[in-house]
Amino acid sequence: MDTSFRVGIDAGGTLVKLVYWSDGRLFFRKLVNRDALNVLEHLRRDLEGKHLCITGGKADYYWQHLPPETKKMAEFEATCLGARELMASQHPDISSWILTNIGTGTSIHYVSQGESVRAAGIGLGGGTLMGLAYLLTGIRDYDEIVAGSLRGQRSSIDITVQDIYQGITPPIPGHLTASNFAKAWAQDEEEHSTDDQLAAITGMIGESIVTISAQVAEQYGCQDVVYIGSTLSSHSHLKQMCAEYTPNRGKNPLFLHYGEFSGALGALMTLPGIDQSRLRQAFTSLNQATNIDF
Ligand code: ATP
Ligand code: MG
Repeated sequence: MDTSFRVGIDAGGTLVKLVYWSDGRLFFRKLVNRDALNVLEHLRRDLEGKHLCITGGKADYYWQHLPPETKKMAEFEATCLGARELMASQHPDISSWILTNIGTGTSIHYVSQGESVRAAGIGLGGGTLMGLAYLLTGIRDYDEIVAGSLRGQRSSIDITVQDIYQGITPPIPGHLTASNFAKAWAQDEEEHSTDDQLAAITGMIGESIVTISAQVAEQYGCQDVVYIGSTLSSHSHLKQMCAEYTPNRGKNPLFLHYGEFSGALGALMTLPGIDQSRLRQAFTSLNQATNIDF
């Protein structure tokens, strides 16, 4: 067996994330899950003879097709372990926080040095973005959805508090959303561009996730909400929403470089023969790591 390589795999509902550890360096890779046969072919070809650990909702499914010595790890445990390591190098001063993982769906965890608890979850997530965007606009491509969302305006689709309290001072800030998508029904003659619809979908998902995350943070006495997941990786509009709306809810938003690889990192960290201090060094200089994306 080639002992110089270690690989952590996070097989999620939409994407398979891989982190390779080789000669003191980390390499990252993402594959689209929908085309499972291609992924399997890739895994078989590339990972033969390497130390592997797999996590994620689809871990069992892929595990059957991987070398028999491949380790398995529970998804939440791996995600929190990896995120804790990333936090230690990127925000070493923060000892407990809320981790919001915006994957296909969204799971919310309380994480501290010694423990991690799954605190909440919500069916709104990256999968909702893809599914609703496809239903409403016919667009299936992630990059097109992201680009349209960034160009669009929500004001012709969402009802704000001020829209309802016309001419009167509202009891809460007027710019807040009173009802996502409600204007589309109330003013049925208006045309809504594809971009506006995509922006409204992102708005609904982002606001809901932030609202729940901030409540969970309050419940656990935390100030910081750390957002991870591939839904955020190039979706600057969603990221901006989380960045702006979280302080509105009284909490501090944080984003982790390589946060979407938390699960795969966590899985990697449990493999035998990894020098923990070299791994820590590699985490700290992550920006120099090679990123092989798609
Ligand atoms: P879960 O953790 O819920 O099982 P997952 O681990 O597959 O799912 P992530 O990889 O964190 O979830 O995020 C998946 C989301 O990332 C998709 O729903 C989509 O919004 C977004 N995404 C980013 N890039 C792509 C891409 N190339 N193709 C499809 N979705 C993408
Ligand atoms: Mg996931």
